[in-house]
Amino acid sequence: MAFRFGILLGVRSPTLRQILAAAIIGAVLCGVTIAWAVPQQSGEANKAAARSVQSAARSTPQQSSGINAPSSARTGLNIVVLDPAHGGTDQGARGTEGISESDEILQFAVATKKALEAQGFQVILTREGNDNPSFDDRSARANAQRGAVFITMHIASTGLTGTARVYVEPDAPQPNNITGLIPWDRAQTPFLSLSRKMGELVQQELSKRFKGSPDTLQTAPVRQLRTTAAPAIAVEISSVAVKERTELDRMVPGVAESIARGLADFRPTYVVPTIPVPGGSVQP
Ligand SMILES: [Zn+2]
Repeated sequence: MAFRFGILLGVRSPTLRQILAAAIIGAVLCGVTIAWAVPQQSGEANKAAARSVQSAARSTPQQSSGINAPSSARTGLNIVVLDPAHGGTDQGARGTEGISESDEILQFAVATKKALEAQGFQVILTREGNDNPSFDDRSARANAQRGAVFITMHIASTGLTGTARVYVEPDAPQPNNITGLIPWDRAQTPFLSLSRKMGELVQQELSKRFKGSPDTLQTAPVRQLRTTAAPAIAVEISSVAVKERTELDRMVPGVAESIARGLADFRPTYVVPTIPVPGGSVQP
């Protein structure tokens, strides 16, 4: 029974608690095994079950013209949205040997996806081929998820080759939150401290792996980050100006592993907004 009450304690809505209590009592009386019962010894599994129950009981998406602000917190980083930047007619930075950023970054993203999956994350790529989703489409992939973070990946045309940097959006005043909604183009603001935490952890891993990389993250206005209502960073690799393409290829496993390790370190500190983010109803 301990785990069942553990689940109840993890559910904040009084109404939902009552429904669950009735369901548990009913199930116990009937000798029925509860579908989402989990091993008693697993605290993590209990939390996961509580989350999935809460998620299943979530109210219907709210119709709004903004994004719900994060309120009280709950741990649970589940999904990483990886954004290989550019694509389609936008090739991004162009370098020697016909290297184009949009093409080269795909292999970094695919390897990073695998490394993250090995850490237990679910990964969504904003593009898998040579297409070019809009900035808002890319952000919306993260905004529509619960428990997501967003990483946009770039290859610079400048910088010391063989290094990598993490960027977050600069500080901005918190939006006026009277309505509980955040304007689309300020979506990142409430998540900035989490973005910085995640970015520091990824940068630490990158600087260990790639000598000459900065020790700390930097700030820059990056378009994809501004409209993302989730912890969000940009990872930039130097550079398309390498003498040979193989110099970039050799960085792929290290970049993938560094991001995966950074996110594994970040996972325990991640908080999910209690109010679901209605990605589908958000209008840019
Ligand atoms: Zn770029």
